[in-house]
Amino acid sequence: LFVLGVETSCDDTAAAIIRRRPDGSCQILSNEVWAQHEDHAAFGGVVPEIAARSHVERLDSTIEKAVAVAGIAFDRLSAVAATAGPGLVGGVMVGLTTAKAIALAHDLPLIPLNHLEGHALSARMTEPAAFPYLLLLISGGHTQLIHVKSVGDYVRLGTTIDDAAGESFDKTAKLLGLGAPGGPMVEAAATGGRADRFDLPRPLAQRDGCDFSFSGLKTAVREAATNIESPSGQDVADIAASFQHAAARHLAQRTQKAMEILDPPIGNRRLVVAGGVAANCSVKNMLQKLCAANSWQLMVPPPKYCTDNGAMIAWAGAERIVAGMVPNPHDVMGLAPRARWPLAPHKDGGKLGSG
Ligand code: ATP
Ligand code: FE
Repeated sequence: LFVLGVETSCDDTAAAIIRRRPDGSCQILSNEVWAQHEDHAAFGGVVPEIAARSHVERLDSTIEKAVAVAGIAFDRLSAVAATAGPGLVGGVMVGLTTAKAIALAHDLPLIPLNHLEGHALSARMTEPAAFPYLLLLISGGHTQLIHVKSVGDYVRLGTTIDDAAGESFDKTAKLLGLGAPGGPMVEAAATGGRADRFDLPRPLAQRDGCDFSFSGLKTAVREAATNIESPSGQDVADIAASFQHAAARHLAQRTQKAMEILDPPIGNRRLVVAGGVAANCSVKNMLQKLCAANSWQLMVPPPKYCTDNGAMIAWAGAERIVAGMVPNPHDVMGLAPRARWPLAPHKDGGKLGSG
């Protein structure tokens, strides 16, 4: 089974071809990502119009490269999968429309995907992450704990009540003048910093459930930074390290709550982490300690599959094909991109979140 995946929901123009072998394993034949950081650098954040234009300019060549590197012509594909939301609609439109055109031209099924499902299943490309598992999804726009029961069957246990984890890394980077991409910059700056220099808050520590909150941390970091008149390199490193430690500690503390909720119901104690923040070593170490202390197994994809990529979209498409979830072609050709699209209903009463 060969699937082309197209991803354009934010500021990465990405395309990949994967092969799903009959035994259920995944071979990533190509994974082309064109990161747009430089296009947005002057504006201090992602500008939707610029992102959409950059996707238009680069998607065709990115797909051509993915096809060439994989050595799989369009006529050997089983399907085309593309992100249909959530994300910046202009960008999603570019990817979805291009995927529709390829599907029509080569008479292939089109599988529109929720970008978050791509993240949710991404670990299964490289790890033996059998269902069910507890998913900690930590990306630029989302921070959620989800009970992943099977393909398409997700129950949300917790979500952020304010900022997303990746967003808090990005804002901290901006505040410290570190530039983009925020997460990796903060991680690099934190090297050699003292994580115990600033006593940052433990958000929601007294609260039951497993929701997250990052806005208090952001405020505390801003205070710490503005209290120092002309910060030295060491000051910046200490603030970055203290923030990173506090963020990782918060993620682990809330994940522990979810483990308590799901154990014993989940049966197998498996924690899967996905999304850009899962690339962070401090976060991974903290979660590794949590898992070791509670006899859970931790699975995290390699960094390049944590941040946005086409392979995870192609893979999620393959998972849907195998699960018999290919939509009717008449339903997908007219499909519009979605800015908002929650992945999972909340466990109490199916209330849909902001997702
Ligand atoms: P979403 O998936 O919620 O729509 P997104 O697609 O923009 O958002 P991802 O590409 O999954 O998010 O992840 C990007 C985020 O991950 C950014 O906020 C970035 O700062 C963060 N990130 C990437 N690498 C690291 C790292 N090493 N440490 C911390 N954060 C990181
Ligand atoms: Fe993402």
